[in-house]
Amino acid sequence: MKQFQSYFYIGPKEIAAKVDPQYEGCKISQIEDIQKWVKASNQTIVNDVVIATFIINEAAILVLSDRHSEHVACAGGRNVLSAGEITFNFEEGEVYISEITNQSTGYCPKPSSWTVVDLVLNKLKIAHPKYFTSAFEFRYCEHCQTKNLIKEEIYECAVCDADLDLEWNMNKMCLYL
Ligand SMILES: [Zn+2]
Repeated sequence: MKQFQSYFYIGPKEIAAKVDPQYEGCKISQIEDIQKWVKASNQTIVNDVVIATFIINEAAILVLSDRHSEHVACAGGRNVLSAGEITFNFEEGEVYISEITNQSTGYCPKPSSWTVVDLVLNKLKIAHPKYFTSAFEFRYCEHCQTKNLIKEEIYECAVCDADLDLEWNMNKMCLYL
């Protein structure tokens, strides 16, 4: 999957230190695996919905974990092609995706990582939105070394007011980790 950008973990070291590569999330290779994961992991279906943490691994496979788990744990500490939250709807025995986001402060993937997400979901033949239902833009402030989540297209650091890059620059964070 060389044509897709790979994202490395840029969250707190304490969380990465606790990750056991053997306990990554559940790999979904066919649509039936979603129901199996829901049962096996004792997910509570509320109003026909289950929200989960997801990553797309470097082999372009969807991997799921309980929504309260960290993306880096779901990925077994490895790089990802995308990451975020996914909402499954279960109606009359059918499953589809009603919401999906790239909200992962551990990996901060670009909204354009949708390309690989879409490819993976099409391969699973699961109905899903045309794009991230919420697409987040992350930027790194080189001035005060903080991670910013861009709101209302204002590219200004929430901590020090410095101007932020218009282009995705989270890779610069690794210099300070
Ligand atoms: Zn700043």
